[in-house]
Amino acid sequence: MHAIARLTEDVLHLFYPHLCVGCGNDVLAKNQVICSFCYHDLPRTNYANIKNNPIEKLFVGRLPIHAAHSEFYFSKGKLVQQLIHQIKYHAHLDLGTYLGKLMGSSLFQSNRFQNIDAIVPLPMFADKEKKRGYNQAAVIANGIAETLGVPVVEKLVIRSRATSSQTNKHRIERWQNVEDSFQIASSNFFENKHILLVDDVLTTGATLEACGMAILQIPQVTISIATLAMANS
Ligand SMILES: [Zn+2]
Repeated sequence: MHAIARLTEDVLHLFYPHLCVGCGNDVLAKNQVICSFCYHDLPRTNYANIKNNPIEKLFVGRLPIHAAHSEFYFSKGKLVQQLIHQIKYHAHLDLGTYLGKLMGSSLFQSNRFQNIDAIVPLPMFADKEKKRGYNQAAVIANGIAETLGVPVVEKLVIRSRATSSQTNKHRIERWQNVEDSFQIASSNFFENKHILLVDDVLTTGATLEACGMAILQIPQVTISIATLAMANS
């Protein structure tokens, strides 16, 4: 790099430091979102290639799916929780897209996630999305879409009824809480299609199950599931 260009960059860096959102480290290249230490620290599950993995087992008897995957393990106080917090509450959208791309690569390399026709992010309630300004599941879905070359469809499912907070509820209560809160907006185009349903963190799977049940009203539709992380609850 030309000396003056480098000096300009160094001065800019002084006033606008480009820090790793994982650890605060400032040795990031211009377009990097997390540093290489954090990248290598990411707890990958490698479930994309594994049939009957724990994500798929979670949905047995609840929702018929083709395949399911979570890219990372989610642990309280650890890196992945911190990254997802940045995406959800600090509008770190480039981080969401970046992690979505990482997951997209795992799906792309697996022969179990081929022939996906559309990526559907788990919808938020309209008022909640308006308040936040974006749906984090859609941000992650955009990253996957870039890697797989498959479109994101945000308006297929509508979340139609406000429910109270999901925290501190047991599984049965959670299911009752989200039941009937998803509706299909338009189904004709998706007949015979393979849909990848995407969310940020998988806990009990109750919300994905409810959304998946609504999608299953479309004739001959196939559903697969991908979440950025899975909580060990
Ligand atoms: Zn870092």
